[in-house]
Amino acid sequence: MSISGKAKLAGVAGWPVAHSLSPLLHDFWLENLAIDGAYVPLAIAPHDLARALDGLFRAGFAGVNLTIPHKEAGFALVDRVDDHARAAGAVNLLLRGPDGRLEGRNTDASGLAASLRASGVALTGGKAVLYGAGGAARAAVLALAEIGAAEITVLNRHQDRANQLVRALAPHVTVKLGSRGFADWPGLAAETDLLVNATSAGMAGNPALALTLDRLRGSAVVCDLVYSPLETPLLKAAAARAHKTVDGLGMLLHQAVPAFEAFYGIRPEVTPALRQKLEQALRAKQKQA
Ligand code: NAP
Repeated sequence: MSISGKAKLAGVAGWPVAHSLSPLLHDFWLENLAIDGAYVPLAIAPHDLARALDGLFRAGFAGVNLTIPHKEAGFALVDRVDDHARAAGAVNLLLRGPDGRLEGRNTDASGLAASLRASGVALTGGKAVLYGAGGAARAAVLALAEIGAAEITVLNRHQDRANQLVRALAPHVTVKLGSRGFADWPGLAAETDLLVNATSAGMAGNPALALTLDRLRGSAVVCDLVYSPLETPLLKAAAARAHKTVDGLGMLLHQAVPAFEAFYGIRPEVTPALRQKLEQALRAKQKQA
C-alpha cells in the first residue's frame, strides 16, 4: 500500500533486527485496515540506542518496539513505565507522551496471557511450573498470575537465577511464587496444571529442553514460548501424550496488539489469516536455515 506525507510511522529496534517478524505482522494489519502508516525494521547498535531513539521521536515516530538486546537498556532510558515493565525490569514498547516524556511499556506478559486465554486455558487456582529465568520467564510469571494461577514454581538450569527472579517478582504478584532446581521436576509433575517453557532450549539450533513428561498430570497443558520451530521437541512430546499444547506464536501475535493500537489508533485482531501468514514466514525461514 502506498503511504502519504502524513503517514504514521513506527518500527522495531533490535541488533540484529533482520530476523524480526514484527514488520510482517504490523504490515498485515496496516494493509487490512487500510491505514496510512508504515512499520519498519530499525537496526540500532546498543551504544547508539539513546541517540537513535531520540532522533526517531524527533522525526515524528509514533512509537518504537524494542527487541533483543534493547529491552533492559530501554527500561533505563524512559521517564515512566507501566506496572508490567516495572515488574519485568524491561520494556518492549516505547511511546512519547504529549508532555514529551518517554513512556515504556511491556506487552509480553499480557500477550502471553491473551494467547493462553485464546487457546481456552484458564488456570483459576491451578499450579504452574515455569522453566527459565530470563526476560521471557519474567513476563511469563506475570501472565500466569494474570490468568489466575494459585502457585508458580520456577525452575532454571542455574537455580540461583530462578531464586533471583522470584525475589524480584514476588512483590509484584499475589500468587505463591517459589523456585526449585531442575532435579525437582519429577516430584512436581503430577501436580502441575500448566507447564511453560520460557528457556531458549528447543529453539532451532539449540538442544531440546532436557525433561520428561512421564509423570505430568494427564489434564496438564504444555506451553512453549519458543516459536521457531513452531512445534518444538517439548510440544511434540506433549502432543504425543495427548496433552493440550500452546505454541509461542500466539504470544508474539498478541503482544503486538496493544503496540499497534498505540501507534495507529485502532485495536487490531489476531485472526487465523494473520497466523497463517506468520506460519508461512517461519516455515520459509526454517528452509533457508
Ligand atoms: P534469556 O534472557 O537469554 O534467557 C534464556 C533462558 O534459557 C535462561 O533461563 C537459560 O538458563 C535458559 N537456557 C538456555 N539454554 C538452555 C538449555 N540448553 N537448557 C535449559 N535452559 C536453557 O532469553 P529470553 O529473552 O528469556 O528468551 C527465552 C526464549 O523465549 C527464547 O527462545 C525466545 O525466543 C522466547 N521468547 C518468545 C517470545 C514470544 O513472543 N513467543 C517472547 C520473548 C521470548 P540459564 O539461566 O541457566 O542460562
